[in-house]
This record gives sequence, structure tokens and C-alpha cells, in this order.
Amino acid sequence: METLLFLIIVCTLAGVCFYRYEHPVGRISQGKDWIAKRYKDKYVVSVKNKAEIVAALNDFVVLNKITLGSVNGIGAVNEATLRFFDPATKQYVDKTLTGQMEISAFVGNISTKDGKSYTHYHITLAGRDYEAYGGHLLQAKLSGAGEFFVTSIPCGRLERSFDEQTGLNIYDFEK
Ligand code: FE
Repeated sequence: METLLFLIIVCTLAGVCFYRYEHPVGRISQGKDWIAKRYKDKYVVSVKNKAEIVAALNDFVVLNKITLGSVNGIGAVNEATLRFFDPATKQYVDKTLTGQMEISAFVGNISTKDGKSYTHYHITLAGRDYEAYGGHLLQAKLSGAGEFFVTSIPCGRLERSFDEQTGLNIYDFEK
């Protein structure tokens, strides 16, 4: 009788554990300018209104110890500084845009440089006239909602190294 009871308890616990593995309850984490909920290897991240997007997302990435993954998002901003990398000079040329703009596309990736999480974001912004500007994102101030999805590759790690030829920190699969 005791053995049967023990088996029932073990099977019930195993069933609960399996169900929780297959249907994990979203774990919520938050920082000063963001709040996120986790679903297996994916996170839904909401950046707070008026926050600087790059700083907020980088803070989220570090706090959640993400070392390899991808980012996409939509939302709106009222100021943004984009960068254009000129391969001839190996220098970035910055341009700051102001005014209310939709984030019509936001893509990025997460890797590591010198062992620390390293993020790389590009953005496309469209204003009231529906004209779009795009480039490498240096910083942007949220104006409205900022809805981001982050996919993490658990335990994944991919280092970047500075490449003299391009002047960029590029993937280094040998490290
Ligand atoms: Fe870039």
C-alpha cells in the first residue's frame, strides 16, 4: 500500500514537472526602463515610454545573461541617432532625426565581445510623410510603445573580434 502511494506521488510529480517543462509559466523580469516575460527560449520585452531603447535593451540582455540570440521589434520614437559606416574611411557618420516616427522595422543580434554580451541593432523609421530612414542604431528615445521579441540560444556563445580589413567587430567562429 505504501509502495503504491509512493509510486502515485512520484508519477504525479513527474507529470507536473513534464507539464511545466512543456508549458512553462512565463517568468517576469524587469529593469528601470523595461519589463519582460519569458516563454522557453523567447522573451517579450516592453520598453517604457520616454526611455532610450538601446540602453534599455542592453540592460535587459545583460540582466538575463543572454550571450547569443536575435531581436526584433516595433514601436515609435521621437528622436533617434542612426549611423552609416563608410568603408572607405572605416568611420561611422551619424545622423540625428527628430519628430514622431514609427519604428517600421527593428532587427538586431546578440553575441559576445571579450566575453561580455554585445548587441548590434538596425532600425527603419517612418515619419508622418511615410518616408523611411534606416541605418545602424546608436540611440533612440521611445515615444509611445516599444514591443520587442528576443530569441535566446541557451548556453550559446559566439565571440566577435576586431577585423583590421573592414574596421568592424565581426564574428570569430574560431574563438
Ligand atoms: Fe550595424
